[in-house]
Amino acid sequence: MPLTPEAQAEIADARATPRPTLRAVSEGMEAHLYTAHPVLDHGFVRVIDYMGDDSAIVQAARVSYGAGTKHVSNDEGLIRYLMRHWHSTPFEMCEVKFHVKLPVFVARQWIRHRTANVNEYSARYSILDREFYIPAPENLAAQSTVNNQGRGAVLEGEEAARVLELLKSDAGRAYDNYEAMLSQDGQQGLARELARMNLPANIYTQWYWKVDLHNLFHFLRLRADAHAQYEIRVYAELMCKLVADWVPLAYAAFADYRMGGVNLSAKGLEVIRRRLAGEDVTQETSGMSKGEWREFEGVFG
Ligand SMILES: Cc1cc2nc3c(=O)[nH]c(=O)nc-3n(C[C@H](O)[C@H](O)[C@H](O)COP(=O)(O)OP(=O)(O)OC[C@H]3O[C@@H](n4cnc5c(N)ncnc54)[C@H](O)[C@@H]3O)c2cc1C
Repeated sequence: MPLTPEAQAEIADARATPRPTLRAVSEGMEAHLYTAHPVLDHGFVRVIDYMGDDSAIVQAARVSYGAGTKHVSNDEGLIRYLMRHWHSTPFEMCEVKFHVKLPVFVARQWIRHRTANVNEYSARYSILDREFYIPAPENLAAQSTVNNQGRGAVLEGEEAARVLELLKSDAGRAYDNYEAMLSQDGQQGLARELARMNLPANIYTQWYWKVDLHNLFHFLRLRADAHAQYEIRVYAELMCKLVADWVPLAYAAFADYRMGGVNLSAKGLEVIRRRLAGEDVTQETSGMSKGEWREFEGVFG
């Protein structure tokens, strides 16, 4: 478990003191509040706070005074309509604040999502823990031969053992030197803001990350996708489960239209129409490039 006993006691304390509220409450999300869900070897995702639920989306769409309609089927239909027609602002009425512990190289990908509010653990102020992401053997893979931005077969045997050993020993040595530079034992001790610069990108950092549901869906669409790097994808997949419990109707619409659906170009649509009419369309007669055709056939072939 990535949490210290003190951190676990703080979480237990926070969960032990419920208070009544007039705010919208999602029972599914209440069950997750504060709890740390482990990700990778030392990481986690915790929900710190949230605002709104499925009915908040419906209320905002209708600009209603109270809880809006009591009929779940009406709410579901409206939410699906909003999702289908990219009427996105009602989804921005829901917000969520996460506490995430993640390797620095994952944080670099994550921070590209600019529509969130972030506050990161300060390595100028505090000393980082000796915690490094070391991939499980099944995730230690070779460079992909077909995708420049991906990985291929799992490394095996002596090579796998050597790589793991290099990752561990380099991280350990860098951290030993970090501590040696910080030390004030018989020396001045280098400033924390400078000593951190020799630490590798697989060291863990932490942040609070607050985002609205519309932009969270955008993040999840990109990062829970098979094209995303495994190490960020596992965070996104876990967050998908949390969001499904928080706003089940909105998540189901998102899973259907965004995660499970596909975008079709005008050319792709025309190929489908021609095929339905009985024509044998090829890449050469489709008007699509080879890459486009490969992706199209991957879905409809
Ligand atoms: C599989 C994958 C591979 C990637 N590879 C690379 C790579 O090789 N190199 C690289 O640099 N990045 C890469 N990225 C990052 C990618 O280009 C985006 O920066 C990242 O996914 C964030 O997307 P976003 O800008 O849509 O999200 P957000 O920053 O959350 O923005 C959401 C939306 O808000 C709007 N928006 C936000 N800020 C602005 C702004 N300043 N101006 C205009 N519109 C704005 C846009 O409509 C945007 O889509 C990759 C991402 C993925 C998922």
